[in-house]
Order: sequence, then C-alpha cells, then structure tokens
Amino acid sequence: MAKEIRTIGVMTSGGDSPGMNAAIRAVARACAYYNVKCIGFYRGYQGMIEGDHCILNARSVRNIISRGGTILKSARSKDFRTVEGRKKAAEHLKKLEVDAMVLIGGDGTFRGGEIFSKEYDIPIIGVPGTIDNDIAGTNYTIGYDTALNTVINAIDKIRDTASSHDRLFFIEVMGRDAGFIALNTGVGAGAEEILIPEENLGLDRLLESLKRSKRSGKSSSIVVVSEGDKIGKNVYELADYVTDNLPDYDVRVTVLGHMQRGGSPTCFDRTLASRLCVKAVELLLDGEKNVMVGIINNEISATTFDVGLKEDHGINRELLRISDILST
Ligand code: ATP
Repeated sequence: MAKEIRTIGVMTSGGDSPGMNAAIRAVARACAYYNVKCIGFYRGYQGMIEGDHCILNARSVRNIISRGGTILKSARSKDFRTVEGRKKAAEHLKKLEVDAMVLIGGDGTFRGGEIFSKEYDIPIIGVPGTIDNDIAGTNYTIGYDTALNTVINAIDKIRDTASSHDRLFFIEVMGRDAGFIALNTGVGAGAEEILIPEENLGLDRLLESLKRSKRSGKSSSIVVVSEGDKIGKNVYELADYVTDNLPDYDVRVTVLGHMQRGGSPTCFDRTLASRLCVKAVELLLDGEKNVMVGIINNEISATTFDVGLKEDHGINRELLRISDILST
C-alpha cells in the first residue's frame, strides 16, 4: 500500500515562466484544503540539495497569482546532475519528512525528476511550466500564452516603426529547440517569413520570399526567427546575408530576449496553473506517482515522463502553410 502523504514539497526549476506563482499558490492552497503540510524549496533542485526551504500555508501565497516570476526563485542546478547532489537532496527531503514532490519546470526538470524517482522512492508529479511549450504530454505549458502575448505586443510596436521607415526587421524570439513562439506570433503578427528549428526553409526561399514581397508592393517586412532556427545562421548573420543579397532592403535586427519571460500572467496561464496544480496534489494523495500533468483537449491528464518528453512535441506545421498564404 502507498505510504500516506502528510507533507508535499514544491519547487520551480529551469527557466522561469509567468504563471509559476499561480502554480505555487495552487499547490499550497490545495495542500491546505486537504490538510497536508506544504514545503517550498528555493532555486529548484539547488534548494533541495541545500535544504533551503520555507513552509507554505494558505496565507503565505496571498497576492501572488498575478505576479510574474516565481517567489521560490528558479535555478539551473549543476549539482543535481551528479549522484552526490541527488543524494543530498534525498537526505534533506527525508530530514524534513517530505513524502512527495511537485516539480514545476520544463523538460530538463522532468528528466532530473525521472532519474531522481528511479533512485529514491519519493513520489513525484511534474507540472509543465515553461514559455517554450515544448512538452509532448500537454497542449499548453504554463507561461506560454503570456509569452505569446508579450511577443505579439512587441512585434506590433516594431511593425509601426518598420512601416514608418520602410524597413525589414528580423526579430529573434525564444525557442532554442522548439518554434512554438515564433510560429504562432509570426502568424498572429502577420510576419512575412517565420524561421523555426523544426523546418529548414533555406536561404534561397527566404530571399525569394522577400523579393516577392517587394514586387507585391510591400515597403516594410517582419521576419520572426526562433533562436534555434535550422538555417544555421544567427539572426545577425541572417540580416547581413539579406543586406548583401538584397541591397534595396534597409535591414534591422531586434532580439527580444528575457522580456519574453516576464510580466503578469494571462488569465489562461493562471487558470491552467490552478487546474494543473490542484490535480497534481490530488494525484499524489490518490497514490499516483512519477507522471506529469498536462492539458489535452481541455481535459487534465497524467502522462508518464517518457511519453511527455518525446522528441516530437507536436508543432502545428499547418501554420507555416497558413503563413505562406497570408503573407502574399
Ligand atoms: P526550460 O525549458 O524553461 O529551460 P527546463 O526545466 O528544461 O526549463 P533545464 O535547465 O534544462 O530547464 O533543467 C532544469 C534542471 O533540471 C537543471 O538545471 C538540472 O538541475 C536538472 N536536470 C536536467 N536534466 C537533468 C539530468 N539529465 N539529470 C539530472 N538533472 C537534470
């Protein structure tokens, strides 16, 4: 029979994302509702290794649902990649009598959690919190919707200046391994071209498309480039290449960078975080372990880590075709 869960630990790990605070709040409040003690660990796995923690009750998470970032802070812990690091983390959990953990983070966080759960008998539930949306076991990750809205607002502003000065802007957005942000904001902001890690559209096609734009009477253009685009040139090299080959274009580059992670979460992200984290606590209390929660077709589901971390995270390539048609 599964051990009774009296204390649940929670942490946020990897890149921060808007809605992580709403997630922490939901874990703490669900624990309070079910009379379970809740312990928050600071700086992800690093806090577990160092035993850096706080007690979270229903009141300690007041007024955080609307705040970006994470009150528990986040980190990328090198130590947790080592056997000794994970041993220290397990020792601290034992000392604090933590019976189970909720891990809020991205694919790396879940990989770490999967290894940890094989080494130590501590039930774990993963909650997808990352702006990248690059997790197969869910249609949406916490923070993605907010990031889309942040990016689209920024592109709209750049469009104003691009059209005033008849310029071509290359705009780099986050997404080293996944082009969700680029693809969706590219379509949403009416970009002329969208470059993503999943497809190598090639330099010839880019030049051809920009020439076609000029011929059709467009005086300004936006190209949205994912950090990890497949062409193999970074955004500055792409801009130089286009300047060299299409001297008629006045080319500029904007890298949106870390502003994409910040800001108050959208209603969608707050609701998603709330639903996923209540489910995470309930699954642990029902004896479930070592799965990630996700939302698939608007139903909350639980998926084993190996399925959730599949290489193919299901980007919608149809959007490239839509973008092609609409950028005519
Ligand atoms: P994001 O998608 O926003 O970058 P993430 O969770 O993928 O978030 P990572 O830095 O990749 O961010 O992973 C978070 C942490 O998980 C790492 O800093 C490390 O401590 C731990 N981790 C990742 N992979 C492993 C692994 N193979 N073994 C042990 N720990 C790991």
